[in-house]
Amino acid sequence: MKNESVALFPGSFDPFTNGHLDLTARGALLFDRVVVAVAHNPAKTSLFTPEERVDMIRESVKKLKNVTVMHFAGLVVDCAKQVGAQTIIRGLRAVSDFEFEFQMALMNRRLQPGLEIVFLMPDQEYTYLNSTLVKEVAKHGGRVQGLVPATVERRLLERYGRRAARRGKE
Ligand code: ADP
Repeated sequence: MKNESVALFPGSFDPFTNGHLDLTARGALLFDRVVVAVAHNPAKTSLFTPEERVDMIRESVKKLKNVTVMHFAGLVVDCAKQVGAQTIIRGLRAVSDFEFEFQMALMNRRLQPGLEIVFLMPDQEYTYLNSTLVKEVAKHGGRVQGLVPATVERRLLERYGRRAARRGKE
């Protein structure tokens, strides 16, 4: 399609949360296409492999027909170029996100002038949510239902075992 607006939503997504899903759905309303791109950074230890993360995200966004999912290594700007995205979506939950996001946005724009970075805010219900917190809660048997898509919840239970499942029923 000519003049199609494409936005890239890059992140670690280890794992994808309902905050990420909220942002993806907002992006899907604003752009013709949204590409969720899982960053593969071998220097960073992750709970799920990039392939597992892509699988979970695909399952979570399957109702959003203009959203696709991929993984990438290297620079976000190169990934944006590869998929034909003119815009990068990032999230802002609180002031604490701002400094890091601001640095990244300016660096990415320096690397690829013309690229726009837009910041979306999730529903306030998800403003405290991040992947690290979700993993910590799941690891110690806490309930993550409602914080992550059902497929992610299932995989967290598989990964952390029955203890988590038992606690979730309490
Ligand atoms: P990264 O390691 O690239 O920051 P994350 O998976 O932690 O990857 O986050 C990807 C993007 O999603 C970031 O812009 C982050 O601010 C945003 N984000 C993370 N959690 C939430 C949330 N609960 N609500 C809205 N945006 C979020």
